[in-house]
Amino acid sequence: MNRKEMIRNYITSKRDEMVSDLAELIRIPSVMSEPSDGCPFGENNVRALRKAEEICRKYGFFTHNCDNYAISADLLNNGEKHLGILCHLDVVPEGNGWTKPPFELTAEDGKLFGRGAIDDKGPAIAALYAMRCVKELGFTIDKNVRLILGSNEENGSADMEYYQKRESFPPLLFTPDGSYPLINIEKGMMRIKLSHKCEKIVSISGGAMVNAVPEAAKAQVKIPAETLRRTAERLAANVRFDITEEDGLTVISAHGKSAHASTPELGTNALTALLKLLAECDVEEAKAFAALFPFGETDGASCGIKCSDEVSGAVTTVLSMAEISGGKLVCTQDIRFPVCESCKGILEKLENAAKAVCVSVEPIMQSEPHHVSAESDFVKTLLNVYENVTGERGEPIAIGGGTYVHETENGVAFGAEFPGDENNMHGADEFIKEESLLLNAEIYANAIIALCGKEE
Ligand SMILES: [Zn+2]
Repeated sequence: MNRKEMIRNYITSKRDEMVSDLAELIRIPSVMSEPSDGCPFGENNVRALRKAEEICRKYGFFTHNCDNYAISADLLNNGEKHLGILCHLDVVPEGNGWTKPPFELTAEDGKLFGRGAIDDKGPAIAALYAMRCVKELGFTIDKNVRLILGSNEENGSADMEYYQKRESFPPLLFTPDGSYPLINIEKGMMRIKLSHKCEKIVSISGGAMVNAVPEAAKAQVKIPAETLRRTAERLAANVRFDITEEDGLTVISAHGKSAHASTPELGTNALTALLKLLAECDVEEAKAFAALFPFGETDGASCGIKCSDEVSGAVTTVLSMAEISGGKLVCTQDIRFPVCESCKGILEKLENAAKAVCVSVEPIMQSEPHHVSAESDFVKTLLNVYENVTGERGEPIAIGGGTYVHETENGVAFGAEFPGDENNMHGADEFIKEESLLLNAEIYANAIIALCGKEE
């Protein structure tokens, strides 16, 4: 039997144990809550870390608790740091619509249901069993593997900010908190507040989240309803406008289609549609914003930031939220930009374009692009392992979103989602296919040997 088959047999034989260890983690509702003494992200997140630590010790790994922000488990005792695998044990709130208990593992039709099944408790268990497999099958490992489990990925990754100040990451690092084949490029990200003196708009609201295309937007204005209706007809955009009168004001509601800010071309922006309509009716503040953010445009051309490169693609941007504050129309913009640009460069270009229409610009979040070379031995080795185990082609991918390793020097995302896999991540009835859980463990075990095994 060759090595690959031995690993497959081992992982298959541990199926029930994997499922029961995963059930232990899913049972803890590790949704961020109020910090308390020694619990930076709430008590349940610490309970999840402690439970995972207990499981790691049971299989003979050397654990360390980093002040209840994260725990780690080493394959070798006192080994030099070499490979890190980074997962998180916190989850998003259960939300509505579940047909199964969100905090109990339910196995049905080859699927394992429960909050965290795919994001990221299942993948954490897969990584742990990969280490267990390497250890118990007695493969010779001469470089250390460290599993790092955090507890604040879903709410800003303050766990890793803390961890990095106390411990350094191993020189090689991947997170099973993204997708296969492998993510080596994550675009830069900025969030900007833009404001312009407000004259005619009495109130306005756009989306509820900065990182999504708003599916609805609403405004109250002192313009006759009839004028707005006639203009709306002329626009014939793929947005529905409802125009009514209320307390001497005209109320306009625009209905578009939501999409994530990293893929705004899939949505229809209700806010820029609304601003376009108001601009056509000579509302100065709307004209300024419509000039920078024309309805239907997502590449940043009109606000001066359009650019692209071969490896990471083009800028995407969304005007997502709006309000009237301090006599100003204030809107929030989300920008994803390629590795050829920097936060500073994008900001300068945006400021120039905005100044021309008297809009002021204030960055509220800035994060530079993340890039690990596709030519590095590390990336090539992981992609080889992926091809070898799955038989699928392994090409690195660039994304507009940020993963758990965005703020690290050298991390890539490697799994745990397979292309085309369904899993209801962050939604009701989240699940991981049992077969995917096992395949993840198999891939990670092969990766550990390829990266840390004794050279023959
Ligand atoms: Zn995650």
